[in-house]
Amino acid sequence: MRLYRCVFTVAFLPLRLYRCVFTVASLPLRLYRWVILPLKKCKPANEGWPISASFINQFTLSLSLSPFLGIEIKKSVNYFWGNMKHAPISTVKFKISRRESAMKSFSTDAILLKRIEYGDYDLIITYFTRSMGKISVMAKNAKKSMKRFAGALDPFIAMNIECSWPKRKNALPILNGLELENPFAHIRTCATKTGYASYWLEMINSWMEEGRPDDDLYELIYYVLESLNAGHIPAEVLSLLFQIRFMAISGFTPNITSCGDCGVSLDEIHQQMVIFDLKAGKLVCNKCCSSRDISGDENGVLVSKGTLKQLSWMNTNDIRRAERLKFSVNALREGENLLEGFIPCHIGRNLRSLIFLKRIRRSFS
Ligand SMILES: [Zn+2]
Repeated sequence: MRLYRCVFTVAFLPLRLYRCVFTVASLPLRLYRWVILPLKKCKPANEGWPISASFINQFTLSLSLSPFLGIEIKKSVNYFWGNMKHAPISTVKFKISRRESAMKSFSTDAILLKRIEYGDYDLIITYFTRSMGKISVMAKNAKKSMKRFAGALDPFIAMNIECSWPKRKNALPILNGLELENPFAHIRTCATKTGYASYWLEMINSWMEEGRPDDDLYELIYYVLESLNAGHIPAEVLSLLFQIRFMAISGFTPNITSCGDCGVSLDEIHQQMVIFDLKAGKLVCNKCCSSRDISGDENGVLVSKGTLKQLSWMNTNDIRRAERLKFSVNALREGENLLEGFIPCHIGRNLRSLIFLKRIRRSFS
């Protein structure tokens, strides 16, 4: 019997040794799987995450470099838990991924950009929101039940919307409810005001990417819609204000303060009328112009120095002081020619609402 036990023990010795070595060798890998990978999957939020990404990388590195040095691993683990222990629980936040946020809801201030029909009963609504930028949401049964979102799904309306993420991946958020903030009713009863507001909203819809919030742009569009609705500032002036500031926010401020070729400032240019190159988005002084002959080109517009200074003032001063600016009829036409020619060049296509607006202006002039 003893002999049998001896033989049995010796025979199984290699297997036991193998299991021991395997367990020790796979320890770093297991730690990596159980601790580091879950942490890496949860992206740290901008604030409140007490352990930096570089710490996690250092921790991973120390494990992979010294897989068999128990002391090194122990040190890293102690350091890790030390960090966790000192962090108040409330500050440990994670960004909720799309899958984890299934059926989670959100609410935000929003301005309705456009709506399209979807099937027999539903509408897809595109909003420009304060906290999420441009988003498209599904308004279920909006066509079928007139009561559900009565009168609140018209363009230009500012509201607070409540939506929820659906369980299905890549599906649009569902519009659950809304609260009217400002219907801007006077805009829809006037063809000219409707023309201007449609043009501004199409600019936002064409240019802005989905899910990119921009608080400055939200404030700007809300201000111009509110002023257009109230009627105390002429629509033409508001349009110049919106266009020049919109281009600045988008990072395409036209150069209207100096010659874009030689750099001479607007005050140093002697001629009263200066050429603006629509494609390049810059002024070209008469000296530089003679070598390029833009004046005969359809990409150049003539603008007076006074108008350029007023546009520049609009772009850099407090938005609420815009109502004090008095534009002459000539200056308004020059500003319109410059900005309404420049913007389609940079958005890359003609805007349908701009064609509509020009037609309205012609019929009322
Ligand atoms: Zn020049």
